[in-house]
Parts: sequence; structure tokens; C-alpha cells
Amino acid sequence: MIDMGENDSRILLIYTGGTIGSVKDNDSGALVPIDFSEIHRHVPELEQPGRSIESASFEPPIDSSNMGPEHWKLLAQIIRDHYVDFDGFVVLHGTDTLAYTASALSFMLEGLRKPIILTGSQLPIGLPRTDGRENLLASVEIAAAMRLGKPIIQEVAVYFGSSLFRGNRTHKASAESMQAIISPNLPALAEAGVDIIYNDAQMFQDPVETFALWDTLESNVAWLPLFPGQPIDVIRRVTEWPELKGLVLSTFGSGNAPSNPEFKAALSEAHDRGVVMVNVSQCGHGAVHPERYATAHLLRDCGVIPGGDMTTEAALTKLMVSLGKGWKGEDMRSAMLHNLRGELTRYSSLVS
Ligand code: ASP
Repeated sequence: MIDMGENDSRILLIYTGGTIGSVKDNDSGALVPIDFSEIHRHVPELEQPGRSIESASFEPPIDSSNMGPEHWKLLAQIIRDHYVDFDGFVVLHGTDTLAYTASALSFMLEGLRKPIILTGSQLPIGLPRTDGRENLLASVEIAAAMRLGKPIIQEVAVYFGSSLFRGNRTHKASAESMQAIISPNLPALAEAGVDIIYNDAQMFQDPVETFALWDTLESNVAWLPLFPGQPIDVIRRVTEWPELKGLVLSTFGSGNAPSNPEFKAALSEAHDRGVVMVNVSQCGHGAVHPERYATAHLLRDCGVIPGGDMTTEAALTKLMVSLGKGWKGEDMRSAMLHNLRGELTRYSSLVS
């Protein structure tokens, strides 16, 4: 802990695992996690006047490929349990599934009035060329940033490669670049150059005023990307899974799918069994527009809900949290079509 005074802004750093918190072991050459309670020894610049930082760590830290709903729940509970004691939270996370965790947290945490900033790095914090140091320091600065006595960011966001993005808009786009995380459908919430410039027009504040945690998630969901020539048996294996509660379909272009009667039958049967199906585009950028092509009408006729410009990460985690809340029928349809946490922008054309 770095203790600096009673009126300092208080930030909780939570290390879950991943490259950012690791150093190279001199003997084996393997990446090993640092003792996170010693983080300020690795990054002494964390010590700044007017700020006090405490740290917590997953025990043991995990590679983000091993993250799942139980870990999201643990993370969200740590935030809930310390919500009143801190001004902001910085979560250090592996980059591989960072966009899923950020999306899940955004739907699990309701009525946020404080920043939850997730970050990671491509190179370990212990290496000279690391991007982890800047990502960590800027994330802490953003988590501590206030205007007129209120946190500037009041949502779940991801800082990476000089940009701050809405968490549920992010996607890992590169295994190589220092700008590995992108926000394909929404401009950055802030850009860090010489100064950190906030993009006020993009900020989200939850209209719900009371802070709450929704930590029951439905895991019996599936993600089905379509491809030309896909055997109908594969589709049926997924849609006929008896436990299936929710399905994200990644379709072509602006939400199109093959006009195949067997495909239509498989989806209609799943819909009749109460499976909630959401259509997102497999394009890296843009939205589903069910009104544009006959090949998209088919999906609508089978009860598939257009997911607008949601990322797959957002659609899947929104489904998991919404199903976990017990939403059904029209409530569920309306939740998927509308903006809960700033995860979609073009819903007005979808709802009409
Ligand atoms: N495999 C690592 C993880 O996601 C990669 C990283 O940290 O960037 O945990």
C-alpha cells in the first residue's frame, strides 16, 4: 500500500493475471508473476502526491484464457465489497479475454458512479520495452480523475495503447500490436497524448441510480458463426442442445444468413423452445440491419433478435447476465434491442 494522506483519491488495483504482472525468470526464461503487493517497487511512478493505492490479487493469478463467469463474479464481488471505500478501480488482466471480462462487468455492475478501468499489456512489466508501465500509469490517472468533485469516468472502460474505450465496445484485434484492443463501433472515451483528452460526448452514465451487482450468469449459451457450406448438422447439434438457453449467431455482412429451409426450421424450433437468439455481424465493423436484405428477414421471422452494432463479446455476456436475471419473452427481447450500458448505438432503426 502507498499511503499518502487522508484526502487523497483512493484507487484499488486488482491483479487477475496475464502478461502485465509478470517478469522474465532469469534461470528458466519463463514468464512468472510478480508478487503483486510489491507492484510499487516495479513501478515506483505509481507514487504520486494526492493519490493512495491499495492492491489486491487473484490467488493464484490466472492467464485470461482461463477466465470464466466464476472469475467475473469474483472480480465484481471484490469491486462491490470495496465500492464505497475507493474512488476508482483498476483491473490488470491478460489481453486475450479482456474484452469479454470488460463486457461482462459492464452488465453485472449497475448504477456505476465510479470508474472501473481494465488494462493489460503485450509485453511484461519487467521488460525494458514494456507497454505495461504506460498502460498501468495512465489507467490509474484516469481512475483518479475528477471534475467538479465527481469521477470523470463512471463506467467500465478499457485503457490500452493510449486510448480509453467503453469496455463493452472492445475487441482484441491484434496479437502483435501495442494497440491490440480496439473499439470498432464507438470512438474512444479519451486519448492520452501529452495530456489525457476526454471525449465528453461519448461518456456513459447509467440512468439507474442505485449501485447493484447482478452476479447470476447463465452459462448455457452458445456462439455460432456461419460460413458458406456449413453443414446443417453442425447447426442442429447446437440448436438442439437441450440445455441451450441463449445463442449468438454471427452472420454475414449486415446480418444475413442462408435462405435454407432446414436452417430456418432449426432456428424456429429453438425459438419455440424459448432459446433467446441474437444476430450480430461477423464483420469487424458496422451493424446488423434486418430491414436491408431478404436473407436477414428469414432470421427475424424465426424470432432472432437483431443485435445492432454490438460486439460478439457484448452480445454473449449481455445474454448471460440477462438470462441470469430471469428475463424472458418481451422483457428479454426489449433488453437485447435496447441500450443497457452503452453497448449499442443504432437500436432506433432496429426497434422501428
Ligand atoms: N495469454 C495472456 C493472457 O491473456 C496474454 C496477455 O496477458 O496479454 O492472460
